[in-house]
Amino acid sequence: MPTETTAADGAVSAIPKTTTTYSGVRESREFRYNDLGSTGAKVHADFEKKCLKKADRSFAQGLQCQQINSMAALMSLEDSVFIAHSPQGCVGCAGLAIDQYRVGQAHRGSKVIRTPRVIVSNLDAKSVVFGGEAKLREAVSLAVERYNPKLVFIFTSCASGIIGDDVDAITEDLQSEYPDQVIIPIHCEGFKSKVCASGFDAAFISISKYILAKEEKPQTQDGLVNLFAPVSISYRDQQEMERMLGLLGLTANYIPFFSSLEKIRRIPAAQASTSICKVFADEFMAQLERDYGIPYSHTVMPIGTRNTDIWLRGIAKTVGKEDLAEQIIASEHERIDSKIADIRSRLEGKRVFICGGTGRSFAAAALVEDFGMELVGLETPTYDEYAQDDIEYLNTIHKDFVVDIANMQPFEQANLLNRLKPDVFIGIPTWAAKLGIPTTHVLDMKRPTMGYDGIVYLGRKMADQLSNPGFNVKLSKHIKLPYRDSWYEQDPFKYIVD
Ligand code: SF4
Repeated sequence: MPTETTAADGAVSAIPKTTTTYSGVRESREFRYNDLGSTGAKVHADFEKKCLKKADRSFAQGLQCQQINSMAALMSLEDSVFIAHSPQGCVGCAGLAIDQYRVGQAHRGSKVIRTPRVIVSNLDAKSVVFGGEAKLREAVSLAVERYNPKLVFIFTSCASGIIGDDVDAITEDLQSEYPDQVIIPIHCEGFKSKVCASGFDAAFISISKYILAKEEKPQTQDGLVNLFAPVSISYRDQQEMERMLGLLGLTANYIPFFSSLEKIRRIPAAQASTSICKVFADEFMAQLERDYGIPYSHTVMPIGTRNTDIWLRGIAKTVGKEDLAEQIIASEHERIDSKIADIRSRLEGKRVFICGGTGRSFAAAALVEDFGMELVGLETPTYDEYAQDDIEYLNTIHKDFVVDIANMQPFEQANLLNRLKPDVFIGIPTWAAKLGIPTTHVLDMKRPTMGYDGIVYLGRKMADQLSNPGFNVKLSKHIKLPYRDSWYEQDPFKYIVD
């Protein structure tokens, strides 16, 4: 069964499979770009002609580190301990994933909300000279003594990588010392990649090597589908995805978010795999196909009716249920069409700027078509062949929208928002809200955004924000972003150098 991707017309087509061992560094794939300022039309043409250059920023405001993505991907696994073999500062961003895990428990009805067990080995100046092995051993020993967990994850860092601690060898040794635990090193040193999604890949590479490779392949279960979900998926979105798979007569093995060692061990038993996000588990699903012959669907994030249809058709095709998928799509459209029309009457013609992860931002951009909005800007961390498919489609609807390929870099976003003056901002709202723009968050995993039900919720939320922008307007009157007026007059991409 071929791997799939989507073309501008929504058709699903085969993409070539790779047989090389994947390093876990997203930049190692050919024609993948991290630093770019362009427009939809230009970036599409340049990519097509293979004229895009690997640029860099001569000034950057900090990047999201891949370590946090590795940690976030695994943080909700039952009975686990997470050891960052790093200085303390490296886990500074863990707060976001911890919040997502805690909120996720509340949404799932837990009465006692647990905090994940994150332990830092606390590498310091002495460790840099004498090595950090003793600290890592002590951290694992204390973790096992205190919590007796099933799973111990060790996350490497820039510091452990630079000083050359042999974390794999130490893990092997610790594994024989603690046979009741499964100890798994994750190689997510921040310096290895500027694409934070590499952290997801590092986590899956280790799951494969330290759990799946050590097990016999279980018997295939008809109708079982691996549904790979990143940490930013709300519980309502999980339910919606599982509902849609249920309509196809399929059961989801929902992993690794709010999952367990047992569910990970069931991965090879699945009849097929799919992911909720385009840049989550894509390489892992390809590996599962190579190792176990499990077909997979790699299409789009199911945000908006078009993308939800594509997503459903993709997974239906892997299990030979295309006709049933068409019936489901027809009946779901009938169910929500009048609601979409109602939202459209409130949002039509509004100008929107979208910022998010690669999977989500492109998917959300397609959503604006449902509501007749105009895309004026798109900010996302990477550009590659999959992004090219999305841009090709977006170029058929929207003209002259700006494309900013940036991992973070709020100074560029603030400049762009100030120029473009969108009516609506979709994404992480911190800076846009302070400029008084109505904002809708699509990454907080607290509200529905996906599937046929998600689009109705998201659309209403955007329309409500637009009719009641008071909070952000007041905020903008009392808060000033930390940029001089002169910055807003300059080229937002002046620090991107070829
Ligand atoms: S691993 Fe490196 S890039 Fe990541 S937080 Fe630590 S020092 Fe920063």
